Amino acid sequence: MSKKLIAGNWKMNGDSASNQALLEQIAKGLVGLNAHAAVCVPAIYLAQVQALCANTEIAVGAQDMSQHNSGAYTGEISANMLKELNVHYAIVGHSERRQYHFESDQTVAAKAKQALANGITPIVCIGETLAERQAGQTQEVVRRQLSVVIHELAHCAGEIVLAYEPVWAIGTGLTATPEQAQEVHQFLREYIKFLGSDLAQELPILYGGSVKVSNAEALFQMPDIDGGLIGGASLDAVEFLHIYRILVSIADRKV
Ligand code: PEP
Repeated sequence: MSKKLIAGNWKMNGDSASNQALLEQIAKGLVGLNAHAAVCVPAIYLAQVQALCANTEIAVGAQDMSQHNSGAYTGEISANMLKELNVHYAIVGHSERRQYHFESDQTVAAKAKQALANGITPIVCIGETLAERQAGQTQEVVRRQLSVVIHELAHCAGEIVLAYEPVWAIGTGLTATPEQAQEVHQFLREYIKFLGSDLAQELPILYGGSVKVSNAEALFQMPDIDGGLIGGASLDAVEFLHIYRILVSIADRKV
C-alpha cells in the first residue's frame, strides 16, 4: 500500500452546504492508486463528512482528540467517539493546538497513543518556530517533539503518520524551500531508523506549511517527502485536487 498521502486540514472552516460542494468535487477528481487523500474536518461535521465520503476514496480525519478515555473533560471528544464514526485519521499536536491550547509534547504523545489504541492513525505534527530556526535549533526541537512520541508509543511508533510543519510556514504564505524541508525530513528519517530501518522507510512523513500548486511539485520530488498536510489550499477543490495529482504523478513515476 502506498504511503503517499495528501491530507487536507480544513481548520475552523466550512458549513454543511460548502462541505458538500467541496467533497463532491474532490471525490470526482480522485484518480490515482498510488496516493491517498484525506480531509480532516471540524468535529461537528465528522458525521456529515463521513456520510458524504462513504463511497469515495476520501478518508476522513479529525483535527484533534482527547488524551483521555472518557470522563469529566467538558468539551473534549474521545478516540472511542471518533472510532464510532469510522474516522481514519486524527491530527495531533498541530502547532495551533500547541500554541493556543498550550499542548505539551507529553499531551501530544498521549493523544497519539489513545488514537492508536482505538484504531485511528494519528497524524503527529512537529515543527520549529521562526525563532528556533534562526537560533539553529530546528533539529533539536523536532527531535525532542518526536522522541517523546516514540517513547510513549514504543513498538507502535511505526504506525503513525508524521507531519513536519515549520510553524513559521503555516498559514503565512512562507514555505520552506524543498531543500530546507528535505533536510529536516531526512534528519527525521535517520532518527526513526533506530526503531528499525524498514520502519523508517515505510513511515509517511508529510510536509505542511503553505503548500500550493506552485510549490508542490518541487517539494514532493524530494526523496523523504511523502506528501502534504494542506491547510488553506484544501478548502479549494481545484487547488486540492491539483496538489493531489502532482503527488500521484510523482508516485506513478517511482513505481
Ligand atoms: C496546516 O494547517 O497544517 C497548514 C499547513 O496550513 P497552511 O497550508 O495554510 O499553511
